[in-house]
Amino acid sequence: MKLKIAHLYPELLNLYGDSGNILCLEKRMKWRGIGCNIYHLDSAKLLGENDYDIIFIGGGQDFEQSLILKDLGGGADDLIKNEIEKGTVLLAICGGFQLLGQYYETHSGERMKFIGALDFYTVGGEKRLIGNYAFKTADKMKIIGFENHSGRTYLCGNLKPLGKIIKGFGNNGKDKTEGVRYKNTFGTYCHGPILPKNPGFADMLIEKALLNKYGQAELSPLDNSLEILARQQVKSLYI
Ligand code: GLN
Repeated sequence: MKLKIAHLYPELLNLYGDSGNILCLEKRMKWRGIGCNIYHLDSAKLLGENDYDIIFIGGGQDFEQSLILKDLGGGADDLIKNEIEKGTVLLAICGGFQLLGQYYETHSGERMKFIGALDFYTVGGEKRLIGNYAFKTADKMKIIGFENHSGRTYLCGNLKPLGKIIKGFGNNGKDKTEGVRYKNTFGTYCHGPILPKNPGFADMLIEKALLNKYGQAELSPLDNSLEILARQQVKSLYI
């Protein structure tokens, strides 16, 4: 078995160790004898040239997000939408998560029109929402990580959040929602990076990608004792 991971915009969108998520996926696959090829795509237009099993988009500041707008126009946005609707596993962090929504209006009033693959929007606030935080997913996973964003995200209609805030701000600091979950797309404000700190979540993504590709996914257990110890240390600080 072998999975192909596309790391989208690795130069522009990669904050607070986000690329550690790719390393984590690669390691957890290799430790189980699952092959893994990683592709660094500087343009989303390249999504059309291969069949990727997992797509990863990291976080980035307002300026870097604005540089990506040009690439998204002219068809790249449709390629991403298509992957989302097809059920490809997609993980998007912070600035990458915001890209999937309708728009981001920065605190200085500049509106960036984004992909609109999912029905939500983001508005910048004066005070940045910063700190270690934790949330619980609908399937009861406790996720821990770090958030740092000016954007306040509001989900519209029936769109479901990825989780409910236990401690910290999440999407907007008001309604206790965190991130978004639609089909196999997961958007979150969780830097940290999220996957090494939350190995159960990493495995869930691998399982979904294997199921998509091979129709079966049985992951052999790994020794997570170091990860568990690290989680306990961090958790005791703020949960
Ligand atoms: N530019 C966005 C904001 O500040 C995203 C920042 C990030 O990815 N950490 O809201």
